[in-house]
Amino acid sequence: MLMNSIIKIPLLLSCLLFLSCSSPSPPINVILISVDTLRPDHLHCYGYSRNTSPNIDRLANRGTLFKRTVSTTTWTLPAHMALFTSLYDSVHGVKTGNTRLDLERTTLSEVFKEHGYATAAFVSGPYLNRHFGFNQGFDQYQDLTDAQIPAELMFQEDALSGETLKDFIEGKQKANRAAHRSITSPIVTEAVLKWFETMEQPFFLFVHYFDVHYDFIPPGKYATLFDPEYDGEISGENFIRNPMVQPGMPQEDLNHILALYDGEIAFTDYHIGLLLDDIEERGLSNNTLIVLTSDHGEEFFEHGVKGHQLNLYEQTLRIPLLFSLPGRVQQGREIANLVRIIDVGPTILELADLSVPPEMMGRSLTPFLFGRMRGPAPPAFCELKTARKDLYGLRGEGWKVLYNKKNRRWEFYRFGAKHGEARSSRLPVPDRFREKLLDDLRTYKQMGNTLPRKDHQRSADLPPGLRRKLKDLGYIN
Ligand SMILES: [Zn+2]
Repeated sequence: MLMNSIIKIPLLLSCLLFLSCSSPSPPINVILISVDTLRPDHLHCYGYSRNTSPNIDRLANRGTLFKRTVSTTTWTLPAHMALFTSLYDSVHGVKTGNTRLDLERTTLSEVFKEHGYATAAFVSGPYLNRHFGFNQGFDQYQDLTDAQIPAELMFQEDALSGETLKDFIEGKQKANRAAHRSITSPIVTEAVLKWFETMEQPFFLFVHYFDVHYDFIPPGKYATLFDPEYDGEISGENFIRNPMVQPGMPQEDLNHILALYDGEIAFTDYHIGLLLDDIEERGLSNNTLIVLTSDHGEEFFEHGVKGHQLNLYEQTLRIPLLFSLPGRVQQGREIANLVRIIDVGPTILELADLSVPPEMMGRSLTPFLFGRMRGPAPPAFCELKTARKDLYGLRGEGWKVLYNKKNRRWEFYRFGAKHGEARSSRLPVPDRFREKLLDDLRTYKQMGNTLPRKDHQRSADLPPGLRRKLKDLGYIN
């Protein structure tokens, strides 16, 4: 017996060594999904009462959900750039619609490409245009913003009743192209499923859904899913410019707008479900990391305005974030710690066993995903620069400080159990938070200026078509 054991142990050890040297675990695939304008508090898995998100919930159940995640800003272009570069907006430098990413910057997709991954992106909003530098590192970058939905896809949603997608598009979309009416989720999912047929592994795939972004005109049954009894005058069309959608509007009309927003979420969730089903059917689930997030939220007059890109309050700064990788990422776990959109990139790279470029500013969240905890994160820096706004903020665990550089106005909040941000909770700003914010602002601006500019930091000369689209969306004049 004893003799046998002595012989067996070295054998076992050498077998283990042999295994670990000769057959390392195969690289994982990565799918990063961004649902534009998605407020976490409107998802069922984040505690929302309406069943808006059965498929996103499914993903949350088999993964880890971060309850408090903040973006770097409250609009599409800089936030997605922060997602891809793991840099704050002042550092990556793409803070306005007339800038593009410096070629010297490293993106998540570039790291995957360098390590032999197939890289592909399917996007559906004008601020994800390749013109801004988003295509850096992608073998394939498909922009489906203007795609027309082919007939067979229009009827794929078998639950549509009465009004089909086809009727919807032909009848309404053509009538007024000035508002943001495109329906793209079906075609985004379809394009990805088509790509799956010829894809090579391992892959890094980015999928961007845009239907949750205003206008709120969900097709078919989704138009009446959450308030079928409404018989008022308000519609989700022309959301930004419609003067009837204003602070103090009748509560039932505002509730209808919210029901339409939720309808867009449910519609998009359905198409994410088709994608998840296909991943399972192809047997990719166990070897594919799926990450779902957003770029910013949406405000419905909680602070007196509608839409986003207007302030840095919680309704537009907070985003959902969940990771699923069966066998590695803990299932059904919720993390209450504050985390940031810039942490997503380093986390994905670590899960894929790739080294994180030192310039990336985020910190990996993998300890949380493996069931451990981490010390408190540095406060999240956020900013918003437009023709009319020059806003900065720091969001820490349980507090937030905001600075309006134009009128030198400061705001400070402490968050209680409800995590509200009512005007009444405004407090005097402690000096140390004021100093920390100004200090961070100086540091990040300086970091943003350290790259050789030369020809790299080109100003983005918008092509006329793209300019028109952004104008239609109400982003530029
Ligand atoms: Zn957006």
